[in-house]
Amino acid sequence: MVVGPAQIAIMRPNGVLPPARTINGAQTMPIPAPETEVVSQWKVACDGGEAALGHPRVWLTIPHESGFVECGYCDKKFVHESFAEKAK
Ligand SMILES: [Zn+2]
Repeated sequence: MVVGPAQIAIMRPNGVLPPARTINGAQTMPIPAPETEVVSQWKVACDGGEAALGHPRVWLTIPHESGFVECGYCDKKFVHESFAEKAK
């Protein structure tokens, strides 16, 4: 039997996977904040880190409803660990 081009195209080598699909039906959320940190406390302090983005230290309280808070200075996002696990 002669193998035609159409049949060859179907025979893909092992390891070639189709493009990534949605995992478990959950949509992958884009991360708008430039930086995200998972924390274990509901109250966190942010001073912008060591980079030039440094700013006066502020205390941020993570609302239990949303599970995250964004720093008003550097837009850094703090996600509580109990919510971070859900987001994965
Ligand atoms: Zn900050």
